Amino acid sequence: MASVQTVTGAIDSSELGRTLVHEHVFVLNTEYKENYLTEWDEQERIDDAVQKLTDLKEVGIDSIMDPTVLGLGRYIPRIQKIAARVDVNIVVGTGLYTYDEVPHQFEHQGPGLLVDIPEPLTAMFVKDITEGIADTGVKAGLLKCAIEHQGLTPGVERVMRAVGQAHVQTGTPITVHTNPATGSGLVAQKVLKEEGVDLSKVIIGHSGDTNDIDYLCKVADAGSMLGMDRFGLDLFNPLEERIGTIIELVRRGYVENITLAHDANCYIDYFSPEAKHQAAPNWHFRHISEDVIPALLKGGLSEGDIDTILVGNPRRHFE
Ligand SMILES: [Zn+2]
Repeated sequence: MASVQTVTGAIDSSELGRTLVHEHVFVLNTEYKENYLTEWDEQERIDDAVQKLTDLKEVGIDSIMDPTVLGLGRYIPRIQKIAARVDVNIVVGTGLYTYDEVPHQFEHQGPGLLVDIPEPLTAMFVKDITEGIADTGVKAGLLKCAIEHQGLTPGVERVMRAVGQAHVQTGTPITVHTNPATGSGLVAQKVLKEEGVDLSKVIIGHSGDTNDIDYLCKVADAGSMLGMDRFGLDLFNPLEERIGTIIELVRRGYVENITLAHDANCYIDYFSPEAKHQAAPNWHFRHISEDVIPALLKGGLSEGDIDTILVGNPRRHFE
């Protein structure tokens, strides 16, 4: 048992229930919205998010982990309005999402820089976890960083080490956006381990974009959870392949290392809703419940396996 921070307050890890470990309520850059999204209707988008999360509850999901951090447009007051109207627990995150450089706000401040101070990123992440995000009273329940095909650039490494340090200080679990085609999950594990992170508290995100079983076993053998977390993004890896890979991992004894999600969103400013639907018609919150779980059961997984993956593993991630 452990206490898990959600948008509406702390709950016990036993109350998480069926949990999708990587979903975004909004991916929305405020600066972009204020300057260019002239058609934006705040109330309409909030109502739409409430509807989508209500639908998610109706198909059997109790909780989501939302790793929308700096760089992806985190804005907690909007999430609070939605969380108050839905029956889904929302765990929000702290951290920083970059594939290369740190944002300019940190370029000149930090150890050895023009303004030579202790790492401000670590202090920010710890504050979000222990005191709350801005003045919302909402505490972050997870840490997030990224390492893409660009690899361990100085900016990526700086963020990753700050995330590792914040984990060591608080015990908060970590989600890493990785690019499995370049093996970047293993690099993340190495850096985080150097910072003293317990790798069993790390989800190596987007692991489901590869079907390279040897790579996935290596990541799992180091103790981390595999984020099979982009169901519906068939253009990165088709559904049948994603399913086959999970079935093989379970056959090899890795059921306790598997977590599920869509990496979907109620709204994302990268594309219009129409373009999003056209490119990835299955990329929505109901896909796992309606299509993925039946396919996993048909492929030989038991109801007990599904419970381990959807309930037991996310719970253990927090304990
Ligand atoms: Zn994501």
